[in-house]
Amino acid sequence: MNEFELIRHFFTRQSLQRADVIVGIGDDAAVLEVAADQQLVTSTDTLNAGIHFPLDTEASAIGHKCLAVNLSDLAAMGATPAWFTLNLSLPQVDLVWIDAFCHGMFALAGAYGVQLVGGDTTRGPLAITVTVHGLVPRGQALLRRGAHVGDLVYVTGQLGDAGLGLLQHVGTLQLPEAEGAQVLRRLHLPTPRVREGQALRGMASACIDVSDGLAADMGHVLAASGVGARLDLACIPLSPTYRRCLPQLGWEGALTHGDDYELCFTLPVAQQGALQQVAARFSCGFTRIGEIEAQPGLRMMDETGKEFHARAAGYDHFRVSE
Ligand code: ADP
Ligand code: MG
Repeated sequence: MNEFELIRHFFTRQSLQRADVIVGIGDDAAVLEVAADQQLVTSTDTLNAGIHFPLDTEASAIGHKCLAVNLSDLAAMGATPAWFTLNLSLPQVDLVWIDAFCHGMFALAGAYGVQLVGGDTTRGPLAITVTVHGLVPRGQALLRRGAHVGDLVYVTGQLGDAGLGLLQHVGTLQLPEAEGAQVLRRLHLPTPRVREGQALRGMASACIDVSDGLAADMGHVLAASGVGARLDLACIPLSPTYRRCLPQLGWEGALTHGDDYELCFTLPVAQQGALQQVAARFSCGFTRIGEIEAQPGLRMMDETGKEFHARAAGYDHFRVSE
């Protein structure tokens, strides 16, 4: 199978076909229709084998995750996903692998109505770059820079299980079967909070997705907004599994491991009622974990009122070890 047959066989077969794709895969570039009252929101993320996912990860999970992490960025902007491109570097043409990869990727794409409109296919070490494009009503994108003193800090879902998933995957942790499977799903098959992000438009004052760990990602919101925050660790939403592991593992994993792809957002106090109404539509839950303060920096207080200092700030690819 040559490059062009491969593209035709695997990448032009998505069942979803959007009316706003004027020209999709097959020409030199895609032509896409953007309504006059919308703004285009674009994000890109690369997954490198052995760094962003363990080398023995299933192909369908890699397909799911490379799109999911990008959809999570659009979710954090409150955007509605529309199109994506795929730059795939493959060490060899393994048809079974590519088929499973596409299966995972297109299943998630179908669930969020996002269409593959182009890409590039090359030979090299396994690496996947997805670029995703979404739409937002003019001026309504959620930004990192809007948090104000007095706003409340919230997070969706539960934190830390993707970190448990990695420990389970490498064998450091041996959870009972059902719990093990659940944390592995959180690691390999993250759910981007796309509809939740859209629902937060016009309500949240700032938003970010938790990809590098709450401590690091909250830090980005605070820096961009020029404020500080106090978080109550006792309020951090944990799964029953993490709660059981807490005495052994501590807060570190929930606050600094990342890969959870939940949304962390700030909310003006006056919007609390509106948030409650929205929260009723979603099963993931929205948990209040702290408050924005004028004093710069992030203060995480434990149950006893003592400040918690994370050992690692969050994942940094270019950190030089001391
Ligand atoms: P060009 O040489 O003009 O850049 P390519 O040969 O790279 O074109 O690609 C041909 C067509 O196939 C283009 O429309 C491109 O977007 C699409 N394409 C190539 N690789 C992929 C891929 N991995 N996923 C989706 N579309 C792809
Ligand atoms: Mg090309």
